[in-house]
Order: sequence, then C-alpha cells, then structure tokens
Amino acid sequence: MKIAEILEKLYPDPQPTLDWNTPFEALIAVMLSAQCTDIKVNKVTAVLFKKANTPATILSIGQKRLSEIIKPCGLFNAKSKAIIGTCKALKGNNIPNTFTELTALPGVGEKTAQVILAQVFNKPAFPVDTHIHRIANRLGICRTKTATQTSDCLKKKVPQKYWHNMHLQLIFHGRGTCTARSPKCEECKLKEFCSYYRTRTPKAYTSSSSLGTE
Ligand code: SF4
Repeated sequence: MKIAEILEKLYPDPQPTLDWNTPFEALIAVMLSAQCTDIKVNKVTAVLFKKANTPATILSIGQKRLSEIIKPCGLFNAKSKAIIGTCKALKGNNIPNTFTELTALPGVGEKTAQVILAQVFNKPAFPVDTHIHRIANRLGICRTKTATQTSDCLKKKVPQKYWHNMHLQLIFHGRGTCTARSPKCEECKLKEFCSYYRTRTPKAYTSSSSLGTE
C-alpha cells in the first residue's frame, strides 16, 4: 500500500503526543483530550497527576477541585463528571483492555477506547479523530459521514500491520499538511493518490487507484 509506505517515510516511528506513565493516566489524558490540544492536556495532566494519578486519589480530591484543575481543557464539567464516574467504576488502579469494557465506563466513547487499545495495550484498533476522518475521505479511501464509519472502513481497507502507525501518521499529516481549511496539496507527498487533489487539478492525477496499491 503506497500511501502507508509514504507515510512511513514522512513520519517514521510515530509516537503518541499525550504524556502518561500508567494505563490509568493514559485513560484520563485521552478523556481530557476531547476538543482540546494535546499540548494543553499535557500541561493540565502535569499538574493533575502530581496531585492525583489513581482512581482513589482522584476521588479523594473530588469533582469540584478536579474541575478547577482541568478547566483549561474545556468542557470541564462534563469531563470531571465522566472522570469521577470512571474512577468509581474501576476496580483498583487497573483499566480494562477490551473495547466492550472500556466503552462501558462513564464518558469513555469509541474513539477513546480505541486509542487506549492501540496506544496502551498495543491491540489492533484504528481510532479516528477529525484529522483522520477528513484525510481518509479526501484521499478517497473512505466515503463516510462519521468517525465510526471511517474507523470501520479503514479497518477493512488498510492491512492491519499499518493500523497502529497510520492512525498517528494521519493525525500528524492533518495537523501539518492536510489541514481542514487550507490543505497544502502542492507540497503533499500523497497528492498522486488523492481524490480531492485529482478533483481540483485533474491533469495532475496519474494513479488509477486511490489506495495507491501497486
Ligand atoms: S493532496 Fe491535499 S487533500 Fe490530498 S491528502 Fe494531500 S493535502 Fe490532503
């Protein structure tokens, strides 16, 4: 798959950008990252995890104090409620390692669960955020309306060995090149395989497959 090979060259050995040291910290960081930048989450968790980085210690500081600490992440009332609910639901300091158990936790949605499975437990998962949803559709790999549909589509069309790296690489590509408002198509290394680029500049398109399979 040519697109995956190009992404490997552009973003070799991609690493998650949220800071955490334990699976529980990872879960809290990912829950905080909804509609917030990873940089901001890392600043907040640097403070939070010094005070509380286990279910018991977060419960001990309480929702009001938790809300104050996580306020810079936005949606702090909903996030603190979800985090407190999750801390109450967890048994001990461990977090579940299955999709069903993770999504049963309060405030843990499909994307959060898939991020945890991929980044913490190294299980096959393809979490889809706004960048991945946008790029998968622009490239023409998927024609989908929701992130869940895009995740299902990518799991069908992308060989599993690429899932882990590609979900991070597409996020990086979305942040730097294929931005929402003004994608830098002319400098994009994927343009040869991109439906969006072909539509805008028909003569520039040379490949017969949007997947870039050779
Ligand atoms: S060619 Fe443009 S639209 Fe296509 S992936 Fe690259 S930046 Fe995005």
